[in-house]
Amino acid sequence: MVRSNLVVMTDAPPSLIEFAPGSVWLTGAGPGDPGLLTLHALSALKRADVIVYDALVSRGVLALAPPDVPREYAGKRGGKPSFNQADISLRLIQLARQGKRVLRLKGGDPFVFGRGGEEALALVRAGVPFRVVPGVTAGIGGLAYAGIPLTHRDTNHAVSMVTGHDATGEITGIDWRAVAQGAPVLVIYMGVKRLASISRELMAGGRLPDEPMAIISNASLPNQMVLETTLGACIDDLTTADLSPPAIVVVGEVVRLRGGLDWLGAAGGRILDPDPLSSRTSDKVG
Ligand code: SAH
Repeated sequence: MVRSNLVVMTDAPPSLIEFAPGSVWLTGAGPGDPGLLTLHALSALKRADVIVYDALVSRGVLALAPPDVPREYAGKRGGKPSFNQADISLRLIQLARQGKRVLRLKGGDPFVFGRGGEEALALVRAGVPFRVVPGVTAGIGGLAYAGIPLTHRDTNHAVSMVTGHDATGEITGIDWRAVAQGAPVLVIYMGVKRLASISRELMAGGRLPDEPMAIISNASLPNQMVLETTLGACIDDLTTADLSPPAIVVVGEVVRLRGGLDWLGAAGGRILDPDPLSSRTSDKVG
């Protein structure tokens, strides 16, 4: 068994790993709230010689790096690649070969619908040392900020995480009717754009029109918005709700728990229902 460079947990504060010059740290920045960064991500932000970041990395996170550290934008938005993936990988290799400590910051977790694996493999091929720092993915942290647990003993023992389309905006070969049968809770990344066809296919696959759905936009950021709707009503409700991307979709009975667990809403005065699975919540957007 190979164990190298792992932090051993003791009562002492964790000793942080050295960010070696000429290496790349492929690091998750979480969904937006800088408080969701890992200690490794924070230490990398303090030590990096250059930061190459994606569109979904929040300003609050980038602000934690010293102001004079160069920041290079390598984002893709709206399904349209503004930067070619091969170019991004080449840039990382180039910077590492200049002897820099390269912090590659990606929204959420780098290995969850983030093409982190592709970038890491390009580094492997180029012989550039790298490290992966996981992050809080939107499908977990974003839900938590909406007061929706990913699993709950009374509602589901499984969950599917699916992408609505790939990074180029193309429809992936996803069999949505099979997805409908796969797990009681579905978390759909990049799903809003194609929600009309996705919801139609899920219902054709056996999911009920009154099944609860939440669409969480800008999760964990000050402009977070949550639309509580149903599979059957989501398209109508979306047209009246003023949600801006990015947004994550969750379908399933766990959404009802928000009525009791919307801790952010409670901080703003929402009265929490101690028995949310027995009733429907009346708030639609909060
Ligand atoms: N690697 C990222 C996912 C990248 S795919 C992660 O682990 O979270 C991009 C999609 O992630 C967006 O279209 C959206 O569905 C979701 N997403 C990322 N950040 C989000 C946020 N702050 N709020 C809501 N959805 C988010």
